[in-house]
Amino acid sequence: MKKPLLLLAIAASAVIMLCGCASEKESRADFFSMNTFMSVSAYGENGDTAVKQAQSRVTELDRLWSVTAPDSELSRLNSGESFPVSPETAELAAFCAEFSERTDGAFDPTIYPVLTAWGFTREENRVPPESEIKELLTRVGIENVLQNGNEITLENGATLDFGAVAKGYAGDESARIMRENGVSSALINLGGSITTVGKKPDGSDWLIGVKNPLSEGNAGTLALSELSAVTSGAYERYFTAEDGTVYGHIIDPATGCPADNDLLSVTIVSENATLCDALSTALFVMGSEKAQDFFRENGSVMGFDIILITKSGEIAVSEGISDRFTLTDKSFSLVIL
Ligand code: ADP
Ligand code: MG
Repeated sequence: MKKPLLLLAIAASAVIMLCGCASEKESRADFFSMNTFMSVSAYGENGDTAVKQAQSRVTELDRLWSVTAPDSELSRLNSGESFPVSPETAELAAFCAEFSERTDGAFDPTIYPVLTAWGFTREENRVPPESEIKELLTRVGIENVLQNGNEITLENGATLDFGAVAKGYAGDESARIMRENGVSSALINLGGSITTVGKKPDGSDWLIGVKNPLSEGNAGTLALSELSAVTSGAYERYFTAEDGTVYGHIIDPATGCPADNDLLSVTIVSENATLCDALSTALFVMGSEKAQDFFRENGSVMGFDIILITKSGEIAVSEGISDRFTLTDKSFSLVIL
């Protein structure tokens, strides 16, 4: 009597497994946009459509916000035109202005001319003379961005650049497109800015590597679901000057020089990828102590968690994600905030 039942159970589970496999088909797009490599993977029905839509949305945002393409909305604003921008440009500009104030200018979307002086935008790196930086800083500052609804005017020869937030915004948009298409499992990797939709098809969390800023490989891993993670550091885009000093592409607007403090990298985890992206840049500028103060003041209100990797070999992880984080490189010491 028991044997047929057992066979039936095996047959039934085989069918379930087959169905499971069929709905777990991976749809994937790998492409280059916003100056970096991107990949979007979706599982289940409508995955193909969703992935295609996400890719074209990211490409569309890149066309709006590229500061090198002469006909992008930002390039037109930067060349002195004043006009009603698209809703997404208006939305991100307003976010940047508010965020810049909230971070006391550590985040500043008008820093681009200084970045250019250091050669980061042309890949011809140099250490600009102090007088040049001083002069350029007179054109930097969020007060030069006048916004009235969709109408934006840049005063004082200022330049607007979404380089520190565009990939985050694109991640949020990609996740929205996944959900609108009924996709409940997706991994969106926009040049290292990660957004997860649901869980992996097998029901477990997405496992994301947190890079070791000092060498190849990871310092740890993060198990994520319905969350984004964005890291900023000076270890990917940087140059070494003749005297051996390493300069990264995140500028401290207070000095006009690449941020140089006790931090090697900052990772932000939150439901909002735009916020993750903006915060990772801002907290990297602040340095460990100020970043921790900012987290204590705003972490729960704004809804984010942090991982700070310092030059002294410490990895400080906020309590809210301490159970999601696993230290894999034991040469770092783990501290829970
Ligand atoms: P990545 O682009 O490597 O992911 P970030 O998100 O931190 O890193 O963004 C760095 C980019 O942001 C720079 O290339 C530049 O365009 C811009 N940027 C640099 N410093 C600042 C700053 N203090 N505030 C806002 N944007 C900045
Ligand atoms: Mg950023």
